[in-house]
Amino acid sequence: MYFVEVILPLSLAKTFTYKVSEAEFHFVKNGMRVVVPFGKSKMYTALIIDKHQNEPSLYEAKEIDQILDEKPIVTEFQIAHWQWIASYYMCAIGDVYRGAMPSALLLESETIISQKQSVVIDESLLSDEEFLIYQALQQQSSLRIQDITAILNKKNIFPVVQKLINKNILVLHEEVQELYKPKLVRYVRLHSQYDSNSGLSELLETLKSASKQREIVLTYFHLNAAEKKPISVKQLVEAANSTSSIVKALIEKEILEEYFIQEDRINFSGNAQEAALQLSVAQQQAYDQINERFESKEVCLLHGVTSSGKTEIYIKLIEEQIATGKQVVYLLPEIALTTQLVSRLRAYFGDKVGVYHSKYSNNERIELWKQVLEQSPKAQIVIGARSALFLPFSNLSLVIVDEEHEQTFKQVDPAPRYHARDAAIVLANMHKAKVLLGSATPSIESYFNAQSDKYGLVEITERYGNVQLPEIELVDLKDSYFRKKMTGHFSDSLIEAITTALSLGEQVILFQNRRGYSPIMECLSCGNVPQCQQCDVSLTYHKHKNQLRCHYCGYSMAKPTHCHSCSSIDLATKGFGTEQIEQELLTIFPNAKIGRMDQDTTRAKFGFEKIIDSFKNQEIEILVGTQMLAKGLDFNNVSLVGIMNADTMLYHPDFRAFERSFQMMTQVSGRSGRSEKRGKVVIQTYNPNHNTIQQVTNNDYIGMYKEQLYDRQIYKYPPYFRLVKLTLKHRDFDKLKEGAMWLYQVMSQNLALPVLGPEEPPISRIRNEYIRTILIKIPQSSSMGSAKKTIQKMLNSFEAVPQYRAIKGAINVDYY
Ligand code: ADP
Ligand code: ZN
Ligand code: ZN
Repeated sequence: MYFVEVILPLSLAKTFTYKVSEAEFHFVKNGMRVVVPFGKSKMYTALIIDKHQNEPSLYEAKEIDQILDEKPIVTEFQIAHWQWIASYYMCAIGDVYRGAMPSALLLESETIISQKQSVVIDESLLSDEEFLIYQALQQQSSLRIQDITAILNKKNIFPVVQKLINKNILVLHEEVQELYKPKLVRYVRLHSQYDSNSGLSELLETLKSASKQREIVLTYFHLNAAEKKPISVKQLVEAANSTSSIVKALIEKEILEEYFIQEDRINFSGNAQEAALQLSVAQQQAYDQINERFESKEVCLLHGVTSSGKTEIYIKLIEEQIATGKQVVYLLPEIALTTQLVSRLRAYFGDKVGVYHSKYSNNERIELWKQVLEQSPKAQIVIGARSALFLPFSNLSLVIVDEEHEQTFKQVDPAPRYHARDAAIVLANMHKAKVLLGSATPSIESYFNAQSDKYGLVEITERYGNVQLPEIELVDLKDSYFRKKMTGHFSDSLIEAITTALSLGEQVILFQNRRGYSPIMECLSCGNVPQCQQCDVSLTYHKHKNQLRCHYCGYSMAKPTHCHSCSSIDLATKGFGTEQIEQELLTIFPNAKIGRMDQDTTRAKFGFEKIIDSFKNQEIEILVGTQMLAKGLDFNNVSLVGIMNADTMLYHPDFRAFERSFQMMTQVSGRSGRSEKRGKVVIQTYNPNHNTIQQVTNNDYIGMYKEQLYDRQIYKYPPYFRLVKLTLKHRDFDKLKEGAMWLYQVMSQNLALPVLGPEEPPISRIRNEYIRTILIKIPQSSSMGSAKKTIQKMLNSFEAVPQYRAIKGAINVDYY
């Protein structure tokens, strides 16, 4: 008898054994997908990770339904890496498999598909079976895959569906909502009826009296003949010295046809690089040192002040690797930043740059997956957010983790709750590749690893082009309020600095951290603050919509006219968010052009890019924003950065609060004065003498590091201890309380380690579920493996207690 061992895309820790025929046994390889029945009547796409002849003893192996791949689409590297993630982060291998693959490669009987909108389909190119599915979707807007079994009257339907997805005709239903909307560029081509040459002369004849249109058509042919690549409307208009309304007329006449390509996917043909990159002396030195460190270390930390030109160093390192045909991954903390970086890298590497992140459509992700698998030059360099680590690399030689300190590298929900920086280091190790971590404000953990000689360390202390770091001015808010030197939330000093910058035609960034400091509504008679009915949080006031909203569940209500508790009409709004700053600016600087960047303004299509673009083009003079502004954006005309209130970050209830405040303030400050003139930063605070504020002012990373490290040791936090956080949730308050206490006691009795809790987190109820957390601290010196084994054992016995079975639990290893 012959068997395969498979991973199912379900939250199951075990692998499962299925029966195959002898012929199938000799055909299949690890990393190929098979469709298997599971449960009563469901079908799933499983992944083969082993084949053997050992019959399972606990259950009777079912037969596989069919083999989906001709050759492996997942590499042995990936399987090993995923197994490491499952074991280290204490989650099911099925969770990792599910999270790692584009969902269209994981079809299951319950998957819902629909027809892709706005795609013109040539029915004659469809096979009979494809056509039947296509036709069914004309009648019904969506179908479950298992319904198709009946339509085609056969069992093996996954391959047909897969083909339709690959042909870009079908989409998975789940995608319709979450699709990332990248920037589109408008292109034109000749309508298909004019393809032949005879068509052309006829066409020119019909345009005899429309000379401007004729000019465009001729220019089109000219461009098309010169270089065989797509012609954008912009390019055509410029080359013909015409206007886009003439192009529009030709589109309306159906002579030209418009189509769109995403900006970050445009195939770059030709050799991009015009002028070779010239590193400065400091950059060259850093570059040489990195290569030197790599001789003995697998990981190197590049600590370079903001605007020291780290990106250029990365580019040099990448250049060297790809010349030898190797693959490189470049991880970024934020999807929104990819566009800027992609254009920067494409300028050097042309079409060798691929982009990958979870918000891309399945189609695009599958395409890149294949390119990486085949080691295509088109995906030799992959830029992406954390999920790019899951691609089928087989020849990886360098991983770059930019802004390595960013907490967005840690996935919070759902499992696998992995840290992309740490998982990248493990992946690189498997490939014998090198890892470069870069940051102006490294995480305490990484700097500690560098100090203890685990990582190599390279530092750049000067900015590129000898630009000085900005001058930082502290404004004492207590004093300013006392001396009546405030207009709304603006101190006289800040207003003066803004006035000066504007008068010189320079731009200003104002930073307001919204976390934990959103505007709320308060009754001045009884102090009541409206709360969300389902979550344990105050509702946030949104002036623009005149609403109170819950930021956790989305609940909203119209702004009340009187207090629901005492009926007083004396209501006031307290706290301030970006919106209020913007309003105040409008009255203080009525003539300034003001923009705002936060979750509300960037949610819309291209929101982020639009705001960044208009700020770059200097259509906005003052940009107000949240932490989004802190992340690696490069503007050259910003001479002033204002931090509206530094204290909200400092007093966030979190052991990383000071570290994060330092990073955030240093990063936002770094946006100031990136060209010749020295920039300025104004920090408003109630605590000008706070150590962290002083460290920011003096650009004293080492001071911050030493102080924090000392605290971390005393209070048992990373890097001295590893944290495992258990989160328990249930709708019944008492049951949760009891269950959490039970688990806490078992853990502390069995672990001989510090166990804290069970704690009610600051927000202790979300969507009507109560929350309790337990924190376990594992010293760096003791074995993490054995502690985790015990934790898992305790969790298993917890699940076996009948009255606690309904309590949901989540494990977060190295919780951030
Ligand atoms: P960092 O990532 O360290 O903050 P960047 O890589 O964004 O810094 O560089 C800051 C600015 O200096 C950018 O505008 C970049 O184009 C420019 N720059 C850096 N190094 C060079 C170089 N070697 N040649 C030309 N321009 C450079
Ligand atoms: Zn809510
Ligand atoms: Zn009241």
